[in-house]
Amino acid sequence: MGKISRRQFIKLSGTTAAAAGIGAGALGGALAAEAAPAKRIVHAGIDKPAALPKTQGKRVVVVGGGWSGLTAAKYLQKAGAGLDVVLVEKNATFMSCPMSNLWLTGLVDLEFLTHSYLDAARNNGYLFFNATVVDLDRGARVLYTDQGSVHYDYLVLAPGIDYNYASIGVTDPAEEYHLRNHFPAGFMPGSEHVSLRNKLQDFDGGEFLVTVPGGNYRCLPGPYERACLIASYLKKEKIAGKVILLDTNPDVTIKKEGFHAAFDELFKDVLEYHPSFEITGVDLANKRVKSEFGEVQFAEASIYPKVRAARLIETLGLADGKSPQLEARIDPLTYNVIGDERVYVAGDARPMPFSKSGNTANSEAKFVARIIAARAQGKPAPAWESPNTVCYSVVNGNPLEAISVDAHYVYHPEDKSFAFDSVKMFEKRDAARGAAALDWAKALYRDMFA
Ligand SMILES: Cc1cc2nc3c(=O)[nH]c(=O)nc-3n(C[C@H](O)[C@H](O)[C@H](O)COP(=O)(O)OP(=O)(O)OC[C@H]3O[C@@H](n4cnc5c(N)ncnc54)[C@H](O)[C@@H]3O)c2cc1C
Repeated sequence: MGKISRRQFIKLSGTTAAAAGIGAGALGGALAAEAAPAKRIVHAGIDKPAALPKTQGKRVVVVGGGWSGLTAAKYLQKAGAGLDVVLVEKNATFMSCPMSNLWLTGLVDLEFLTHSYLDAARNNGYLFFNATVVDLDRGARVLYTDQGSVHYDYLVLAPGIDYNYASIGVTDPAEEYHLRNHFPAGFMPGSEHVSLRNKLQDFDGGEFLVTVPGGNYRCLPGPYERACLIASYLKKEKIAGKVILLDTNPDVTIKKEGFHAAFDELFKDVLEYHPSFEITGVDLANKRVKSEFGEVQFAEASIYPKVRAARLIETLGLADGKSPQLEARIDPLTYNVIGDERVYVAGDARPMPFSKSGNTANSEAKFVARIIAARAQGKPAPAWESPNTVCYSVVNGNPLEAISVDAHYVYHPEDKSFAFDSVKMFEKRDAARGAAALDWAKALYRDMFA
């Protein structure tokens, strides 16, 4: 047998491996990398139409089964405009962020937070497609997922948020990875909450750090609520620990009086509040956060950096480069991508300065569904309607007591800005509001899943 050149060997190895159905991994090293055109392999899967039932009417694809997407899917299907709705979500099970602080501290059980996408789809007559969106062709109106492609007439993107670790001085990918894994922010649904709960259950004393970012972060009262409930838990379980609440902002960002009353009256001995503490770096080896004014030691932590729109918005080329939080470039009154009435962005990935909250996302998604239903029937979009921010914060776990806010927004056409309107604050904590917080969550879960 003559000498085989390296080039011929690679060709032969590739052919043999392909015929035998062996993946590139089995060949190993640089040879396999040269033999396997990785990009073509990836595209082979996503180019094929996804295995979904044929559409009956105009197809609306909703991406993201969170508070925004679930509501949009239901109300689009209910709109009576002959729309055929598909909800695309990468997770198989829904786990709620609202009320998760209560679960972390043992005040509600896991069934309260988790719900089935299958129930939501079956009860509301739309399709649930468990897949991850990876690309979009707006010209051809095709959405690519890891489970195949889907054609759409209208598309709603509601992928939520991601974290911006550079905002706290963490730019090294290894450090970011360590931080995400060891001290999760706990402001995205799923494993982060499970990890935090396990950490709290194993916690036997020292400083438990909770941090508050700047900007329009997800759930303004969320970190303060978490701090109160962890403090309440430490007291109840008689753990010799302390919550250290480091706030980037000069003061509590919402329901200020109610939170300060809880800090001072209930948790003076177990909670320290430090405003204007901007984190500039994290010393992971020594468990310290750094700022201009010095360092703070911690035993455990949930470190919450600034937020940005979900990475998907940027991947699909829809991020507004001028927006510091890389939110989507949309018409703020009709939610469609500028110049494209087929693609909409809703929920926490929106650029408008509304509170990034579940109730806001839920009320807004009903309006977005009405816009799409009108346009699909050749009618004009309805006039802008304010979303409604209703938000309960449980500030005491024993007994369960809460404070709350109920607000709308107003639009100023002269400078195209939005502001809070008709804000009702209920800052005196009580048990009736504690019970109302649970009722609010049950009503919203019913609205999305039943
Ligand atoms: C601890 C905590 C407490 C909170 N408390 C309250 C409260 O009491 N009241 C309140 O109103 N709000 C509260 N919130 C805020 C609320 O959870 C969010 O504002 C809300 O979830 C925003 O909804 P969304 O649909 O925009 O995003 P999400 O609910 O995060 O949903 C986005 C979905 O998109 C999916 N997704 C992302 N990328 C892809 C992709 N490429 N392919 C497929 N799917 C994708 C994600 O998996 C996710 O399911 C709280 C949040 C937290 C973290």
